[in-house]
Amino acid sequence: MGYGYVAFVDLWRERVRVEELPEDAAELFIGGKGLLYYFGFKLAPRGGDPLDPRFNVLVVAPGFLAGLAPSASKVGFLARSPTTGILCDTYAGQVFAAKLRRAGFSALVIRGRARDPVYLYVEDGRIELREAAHLWGSSTWDTWQAVRRETRLGASVAAIGPAGENLVRIANIMVDGFRAAGRCGLGAVMGSMNLKAIAVWGSRAPEVHDREGLRKAYLELYERFRRDEATRAWARYGTNDGVTHCARLSMCPTRHWRRPWLPEDEARRLSGDEVLAREAPRSAYREYAGVIWGWGCPAKCAKLASPRAKGREYVVVKPEYENLAMLGLAPEVLDLDEVLLTEKLVNDLGIDSISFGEVVSWLMELVEEGLVRPEELGGLRRPPRFGDAEAVRELARLVAWRRGIGAVLAEGVERAAQILGRGADRAVHVKGLEQAAWDPRGRRGLGVSYATADVGASHLRGWPEPHEPPSRGPASQTVESMIRDRDWKALQDTMGLCAFIPYEPEDVARLYRLATGREVPPEELMRVGWRTEALARVYAALLGRVPEHDAAPRRWMEPVPEGPLRGSRAFADERDFREALRTFYRLRGYHEEYGVPLPETLERLGIGWASDEARRALEAVRARLAG
Ligand code: SF4
Repeated sequence: MGYGYVAFVDLWRERVRVEELPEDAAELFIGGKGLLYYFGFKLAPRGGDPLDPRFNVLVVAPGFLAGLAPSASKVGFLARSPTTGILCDTYAGQVFAAKLRRAGFSALVIRGRARDPVYLYVEDGRIELREAAHLWGSSTWDTWQAVRRETRLGASVAAIGPAGENLVRIANIMVDGFRAAGRCGLGAVMGSMNLKAIAVWGSRAPEVHDREGLRKAYLELYERFRRDEATRAWARYGTNDGVTHCARLSMCPTRHWRRPWLPEDEARRLSGDEVLAREAPRSAYREYAGVIWGWGCPAKCAKLASPRAKGREYVVVKPEYENLAMLGLAPEVLDLDEVLLTEKLVNDLGIDSISFGEVVSWLMELVEEGLVRPEELGGLRRPPRFGDAEAVRELARLVAWRRGIGAVLAEGVERAAQILGRGADRAVHVKGLEQAAWDPRGRRGLGVSYATADVGASHLRGWPEPHEPPSRGPASQTVESMIRDRDWKALQDTMGLCAFIPYEPEDVARLYRLATGREVPPEELMRVGWRTEALARVYAALLGRVPEHDAAPRRWMEPVPEGPLRGSRAFADERDFREALRTFYRLRGYHEEYGVPLPETLERLGIGWASDEARRALEAVRARLAG
């Protein structure tokens, strides 16, 4: 088989160049996450404002197995994040990835800024830039519908909403109206490029080494997953029973991370059963059948919900735990119909619900503590208080249009605190990325994952195995298991596999062999995550984020106030945190104090071509820390 094709799209000159994927990229970085970091590291400038297209690049890459294996459904987007300044990758599921692979592309690399708004239409090896002025200002949902009508009804569409257009630094990219590539504000990067959407449609099965073998493996795995008991149980709720779990584990973001433990009766109000009680009628499933579930998914955990909402009838995708937690628990809105309304609004505006939940609940805390004066809350009809769902939605609109206090929150929590000159010690983020909805005080060691993750406080960069009980013991003892899980997750994102389907590394190696003819042991495939992490850390060190921002927000060290883990912290103390970081650096072959990959580690990983930059990064960190 060939290595696949990459399209380089130059929006300044309205030109597209298609090249074969370089051999070293195909073999060492494979697809999805791997290729995102390969191109991102090679092409993203080392500085400048990420919202100035001269200093950024947007890479889109489907998982390598997209459309070739059950639930291989993930597409990744990467650019320099407008909130963190460093490289950031974020993913969306279902059918976009497979359609992009079937259109013949392993990656799209987009640069520049179109003179007027455009969308990109990719179909079977061809790429067109189409005029999108008529879509500017539209919601992500309306854009999806309109672009499908203008291209093909079967096209999959990644679009930004008003938030992305208005360069809101926490804007997301919505895929087919329902799925968010949510993190790091990449919607604003598209907005800065005048790029409203990317639509894809493809009809050609990707070239593979052993088509018949792959077909048999597909059917066999599909059947195995379909019969798997855990998968069947998963199908009932997906992640939407997460509030029940975070409540029990003391890991919820309730009241801006001040109530990580919740009693059962409160948690039940946002439970999976409550969501199921609002399941949409069958007709809705017929209407959206092609985009609800991942390509070839045996579990079909995604469902549609109809909120019982004040005379308005519409359908939302059944919320993920992160939506329920950050739009419900964080601002302490424990009314599911209100949360679903907010979810719909935030998705339509194109705002990342995790980051939005953080900035809003952070502001509510500042208001409650008297740290923000009423006259600073421009645009709001009343001060935002915990539990006030209307205030949350009002803030969403202000953020999307950058009006009043919304213009401050639109900057993300780290910058918002700098602008207000208050609240930095209450902001919960790492490297500028607002923390995902799992409080590390309930799982000793999760804080190391957040602190060292390539992008900032993402919950998808490796979980440690729990201690007994999970909140005690030295954090350094959890690091090895976290690294294993991190590398496995990175391989899933490289291959495009849904993390909720019980693949084993051996299954992935088998599928990879059938697709490519290359026999690569699972542990070697898993190294792709180490490679991408190493490149991400060299890049972040050059920009001043590593190691200085491998840091713990103050809230992690405030004891859990109530419940079975009362008194627990993310780390026993500062020394425990430092020791865990050093353990991580040592196990990864990074400089033990600076956290920067050593040149010999890069050689070992087969990416010695990044060694000069690693040396520069080491020098830069040495000078910064000495100064
Ligand atoms: S298990 Fe759920 S999230 Fe994963 S591909 Fe299937 S429907 Fe999508």
